[in-house]
Amino acid sequence: MTTSHVILGDGIAGSSAAETIRETDPEADVTVVTEEGEALYNRILIKEFAKGKLPEAPVSIHEPGWYDERDIDLELNTHVTGVDTDDKTVHTYDSGTYEYDKLLVATGGTPLQLPVENADAEGIHHFWTFQDARKIREHAAEAEKGVVIGAGLLGIDLAAICGAQGVDAKYLMRGNRWWRYALSLDGAEIIHRALEEMGVEPVFESGLDHFEADETGHVSGVVDTNGVTHEAEFVGIAVGLDYNTEFLEDTAVEVDDGVLVDQYMGTNVEDVYAAGDITRYYDVILEDRTQNGSWGSAKEQGVVAGKNMATDEATSEFRYVPSYSITHFDFPFLSFGHPTIGEEEAERKYSDDEWRRLTFKNGKLIGGVLIGDLSQQSTFKKIIRQERPVADQKEALLKKEVDLDALAPSPIE
Ligand SMILES: Cc1cc2nc3c(=O)[nH]c(=O)nc-3n(C[C@H](O)[C@H](O)[C@H](O)COP(=O)(O)OP(=O)(O)OC[C@H]3O[C@@H](n4cnc5c(N)ncnc54)[C@H](O)[C@@H]3O)c2cc1C
Repeated sequence: MTTSHVILGDGIAGSSAAETIRETDPEADVTVVTEEGEALYNRILIKEFAKGKLPEAPVSIHEPGWYDERDIDLELNTHVTGVDTDDKTVHTYDSGTYEYDKLLVATGGTPLQLPVENADAEGIHHFWTFQDARKIREHAAEAEKGVVIGAGLLGIDLAAICGAQGVDAKYLMRGNRWWRYALSLDGAEIIHRALEEMGVEPVFESGLDHFEADETGHVSGVVDTNGVTHEAEFVGIAVGLDYNTEFLEDTAVEVDDGVLVDQYMGTNVEDVYAAGDITRYYDVILEDRTQNGSWGSAKEQGVVAGKNMATDEATSEFRYVPSYSITHFDFPFLSFGHPTIGEEEAERKYSDDEWRRLTFKNGKLIGGVLIGDLSQQSTFKKIIRQERPVADQKEALLKKEVDLDALAPSPIE
């Protein structure tokens, strides 16, 4: 009997799952449903497009023909409104109903909107889709003054877009530094200097109170939490994600700031899986539930879910060390694993633009941040994957070149 797979979301998680299912089961029916008007594109590259440094073409990953060649049914502009896990049906806003044997939820997140005065003014940009990038590129190219809010991995993209497009921008940060959950002041200062060099001024111990708008409804300023008004016709804001789970509300699928899944990407409801940014998954290395918003992780979760859906067995396990790099500066930057959590840490500054921080949990390395020198990244990822008990060997791990043979051996090899 042919199995019918319905995949919600054509991001990298959904698309990888569709490809994996097709490779594993040539007979299966595969349908991918997305509310976007275009097939999978490279979300990582839309920042380079918005900077004005890249044309549209290289951002696209899949032409519609890619789906036809694999006999995958792609439904664009289709907003999913509900799921019935008893009837095994998916309901959409105005495109009818889809029946499934196996369902994958891979709908990711939507940027959080802060409910403050004038939040809907023109010129305030959230950043998630290619469409957002087109608007940001056009507006940043003509804007003179800007403000960026959100001292994390997406906020810094908006800051770099301002820098590249010549917008004279202020970057409001809560606390005394950028990405304070993963970097100490020593590491963050390297980033602050680089931002200043590109014409973006960090403003610390600050944050959004409300926006000011002119008589045409266009943003004209940002009033910060200290009562200071920063003139701005361009605002970029990235303060977190709302996970797209509304359509699961009437189901028994467990949702708690994301869809809860095990290491096989299975939810608590039979035949319903989830993958990508939307999951709060059981991480076999951390031995805990966690979340990760990165391209590589979403792709691998899609592959794992696709294999388990197509074989109808929980055979493939998600065992993965994610990483996230920033390429806006003269020096490289990479975070790996889970650098924002952990019970212990170790760090070292090697030069003005070279710094390393490592985090540990249960005696194991679980993540870190590398600035300036990424040469040890695969060594660190290997140590995490192998679950070596190295928390008491911090000195050896902070050496410029880490000698794997000098460290505690892996208990799982
Ligand atoms: C600007 C930007 C820069 C980034 N840079 C990096 C980077 O450098 N490195 C890195 O590792 N990661 C980066 N990321 C994060 C990375 O892109 C994401 O982790 C990854 O794309 C998540 O993939 P996903 O498939 O889980 O979700 P998504 O890519 O969000 O895909 C989900 C899809 O589901 C659709 N959808 C949602 N709700 C519905 C609904 N109700 N009905 C139908 N369709 C729906 C959405 O429209 C979307 O197309 C960046 C993200 C952004 C926005």
